[in-house]
Amino acid sequence: MRTGVSVAEARALVLEASPLLEAERVPAADALGRVLAEAVHASRTLPPADCSAMDGYAVRAADLAEASASAPVRLAVAFEVPAGGRGSRPLAPGEAARIFTGAPIPAGADAVVMQEDVLADGQGARFRRPARAGEHVRPAGEDVRAGDLVLTPGSVLGPSQLGMLAALGRTAVLVRRRPRVAILSGGDELIEPDGPVGEGRIVASNSYAIAAQCREAGAEPSLLGIARDDPQDLERLLRAGLHADVLVSSAGVSVGEHDYVRPVLEKLGCRLVFWGVLMKPGYPLAFGRIEAERGPLVFGLPGNPVSALVTFELFVRPALRKMAGRRSWFRPTLDATLGETLRKSPGRTHFVRVELAREGGELRAVPTGNQSSGVLSSMVLAQGLLVFPAEAAELAAGARARVHVLDPEFFAAERAD
Ligand code: AMP
Ligand code: MG
Repeated sequence: MRTGVSVAEARALVLEASPLLEAERVPAADALGRVLAEAVHASRTLPPADCSAMDGYAVRAADLAEASASAPVRLAVAFEVPAGGRGSRPLAPGEAARIFTGAPIPAGADAVVMQEDVLADGQGARFRRPARAGEHVRPAGEDVRAGDLVLTPGSVLGPSQLGMLAALGRTAVLVRRRPRVAILSGGDELIEPDGPVGEGRIVASNSYAIAAQCREAGAEPSLLGIARDDPQDLERLLRAGLHADVLVSSAGVSVGEHDYVRPVLEKLGCRLVFWGVLMKPGYPLAFGRIEAERGPLVFGLPGNPVSALVTFELFVRPALRKMAGRRSWFRPTLDATLGETLRKSPGRTHFVRVELAREGGELRAVPTGNQSSGVLSSMVLAQGLLVFPAEAAELAAGARARVHVLDPEFFAAERAD
């Protein structure tokens, strides 16, 4: 086991150990947000036949070659092509057919004149200008042709992808299984949110924050509950999580007298890969794997609420995304101008909770307040984590720094223009 690894080394070790999960078939109607595990080739051509792009009249362009405003050409409206166009007959020379958007072009016709340009009179219609062959006709296969590669593995299924699957007649789709994450909180002081407060009691809020982070990352969390600072209790609850893909415990992985998580994990067959990451918040992070077939990855997160959130963000989230077959594993980053001077001693990377603001053409990052690892309220306000590099001792106000953007709403526009 390694100790005191850099953030980059720790990330690389975690990702290297994170397996791609198997695929499962799900109803396409339930597949929003899932990651495709197959290549989808078009089973049919779309549109299946030449069809009208307008409400109007299907014509033979040659019939209108001489049409002009001063000498309109009159064609007999011989029939109507209904939606679906079943039973429509070929168009003979000198004829037009009433047609609607999406209806198939009858044989013989090669253009559609939009209805706004046509003077209908009784059984006929007058045309005041020529039509170009192909005008307002959507050719068969304009969208996709049978056999085309339409979606690639690793695509995230959103509304347009699901619309395409439906258009191709797919009702089921092969996607990556969602990672299952078992979450444990440990500590004698911990209670559930509706438990009795007082006497040094602290709500095990990490379990709830971590479950939310799991869902946001596309994983399925389950709560194992709160383990007492007691090896038997800890072992009993951790065992219940061995079926999961990932086991996340918060607290108890430090070096304190009552920190039993490490020895209990080792008893359960966990081989620790590293303990201790050169970062703040979040130094006491442990990572390993239960050495059994399909044994879960194990993250022992620090107990302090901000440390737990930040280490999940930096290490667990990318692992879950890799396991789920996503192509990108990390948050978007932006360079921002720091709003105030920051100082620290060299050695650890600090992740500073910041609020982001666009001022003029510039992006500014301003720390959200008390950066203690127990202060959740400054994390509540944070839209990003600013990277204060390990070896630096000062970042001056006005300096540029990299920010991991946590809040997807940051990219949402405030105005509709
Ligand atoms: P520990 O790692 O056990 O020394 O815990 C560090 C700090 O985090 C202590 O103040 C704990 O009370 C707190 N803490 C531990 N576990 C949790 C949890 N699940 N939710 C919220 N706070 C916690
Ligand atoms: Mg504790």
